[in-house]
Formats: sequence, C-alpha cells, structure tokens
Amino acid sequence: MGNNIAGKIVVITGASSGLGEATARHLSEQGATVVLGARRIDRINALAKELAGNEGKAIAVQTDVTQYEQVKNLVDTAVEKYGRIDVMINNAGLMPHSPLDRLKIDDWDRMIDVNIKGVLYGIAAALPYMQKQKSGHIINVSSVAGHKVRPASAVYAATKHAVLALSEGLRQEVKPYNIRTTVISPGAIDTELPNSVTEPDIADNVRKIYEIAIPADSFARAVAFAMSQPDDIDVNEILFRPTLQE
Ligand code: NDP
Repeated sequence: MGNNIAGKIVVITGASSGLGEATARHLSEQGATVVLGARRIDRINALAKELAGNEGKAIAVQTDVTQYEQVKNLVDTAVEKYGRIDVMINNAGLMPHSPLDRLKIDDWDRMIDVNIKGVLYGIAAALPYMQKQKSGHIINVSSVAGHKVRPASAVYAATKHAVLALSEGLRQEVKPYNIRTTVISPGAIDTELPNSVTEPDIADNVRKIYEIAIPADSFARAVAFAMSQPDDIDVNEILFRPTLQE
C-alpha cells in the first residue's frame, strides 16, 4: 500500500514561508504534486524551482487570499494543469496581536480578511471540484488560540475559533461526497508569524513566548499524518504545541 500522499495534487496557501513552505517541502519529498499560493511570487517561484530540481512536481501561482477571484484562479490552475485537486490546505494567516482598546481596526480587518475569509474562499474554490470528483481533503489551519484566549489575542483567537467552527460545519456537510476535513491547531512554531505583530511592546511579549517555539516540520508531519490515513479514516482535528508551552 502507498503512503496516500504520493501522486496527490495538493494546493497550499501561504506557501512562501513558515508552515506552508515546510509542508510543501515535506509533501513533495513524499511524492505529492504541490501548487503553491502566496503574494510573494519570487519566493514561491524559487521554492517551486527547487522542488522541481529535486524531481518533485511544483508550480507557483501568485495569490492574495483576500481576493476570491485569485484563490479561484489558484485552484483552477491546479485542476487545468493536473486534472484534479486532492487536497486544499488553507494555511495563509497573520497574527497582529493587540489589546482591543488600542482600536487597531486595520489589523482586525486584515485578520478577518485573511484568517477567516481567506479560508472560506479556499473552501469555495476547491469544493465544487471535490464534490464532482466525489473525493478530496480540506485542511484548515486554526491554532491553540482557537481553544484558548489570552490578553491581546482576542481578535486573532476569534478568527481561529471561527476556523474551528467552519471546519466542523464543513465536515458534517461534505461527508456524502467522500470529502475528508481536518483542522490543525498548532502552538508556537518558529516562523515569520511574530513579525506580523505591529505593536512593539506586544511584539516583545510574543517573542518571549516564541523562545520555546518548535520547528515548522512539526506541522508538516501533522498534515502528512492526516493525509496518509486510509481514505475511510478522517482525522478531524490535530492539536499540538511545544512540550514547554502553557
Ligand atoms: P508566516 O508568517 O511564516 O507565513 C504566513 C503565510 O501566509 C505567508 O506565506 C504569507 O505569504 C501568507 N499570507 C499572509 N497574508 C496573505 C494574503 N493576503 N494572501 C495570501 N497569502 C498570505 O506564518 P506561519 O507559517 O506561522 O502561519 C501559517 C498559518 O499558521 C497561519 O494561519 C497562522 O495563524 C497559523 N499558526 C501559526 C502558528 C505559529 O506559531 N507559527 C501557531 C498556530 C497557527 P505572502 O506574505 O507571501 O502572501
């Protein structure tokens, strides 16, 4: 029996750094074809080139997940080139923490647009193909913050709670189409995410929490675990964090 990863067509948003990039590398090593989406086209072009150089199959499509047409174009391109989409990983996200009374309304809007609407657009772009195929797997990225709210994290945590709710609703609705759904909720992982914090004092606090951060391939292995189960097993949620994290 194969690993249920080799030969799969996998679309990943937020593939230009951190968890998305690590996942693209890991799945490519295991024989998946990866379709990389992010705004920083230079980075995903370079990654696609590197993976192709290692005998992988990869393409890059510049994508801003706040624009539905661009997310649709990402998925349509995958299907035009490879004939189908097996896995959609809605990973793009940002975390500009701040206390509510600082009224960082632009940051709230960006988090809602990327962390919630971006996930919805990914679902909207992939679902019609998967329903037609009567197979597929949608993997959404939540967070420990989807389970636990801390000071300065209310809006980010709200977006990640929303991802949990969307994922559970999706799971219940898409079963008849043989579509699997997984939501992955990581703790602190060493990526560029803390750079999205715009308030200097909050950034200092986040940096302290991230001193115990674990490598991004921890997330990639969680994705591979969910994908590699037999098709009649749906890993609904994975919650993990650094052993030392609260
Ligand atoms: P990074 O900052 O390293 O990566 C974020 C990715 O999201 C980048 O590839 C970025 O690409 C992409 N992105 C941001 N905005 C947009 C946009 N508008 N359109 C398309 N892509 C966008 O962080 P992580 O890898 O850590 O974050 C990935 C996910 O993991 C996020 O959803 C985050 O909330 C979640 N997470 C991370 C944890 C951690 O500790 N690292 C813990 C729990 C959850 P580009 O800028 O090129 O568009």
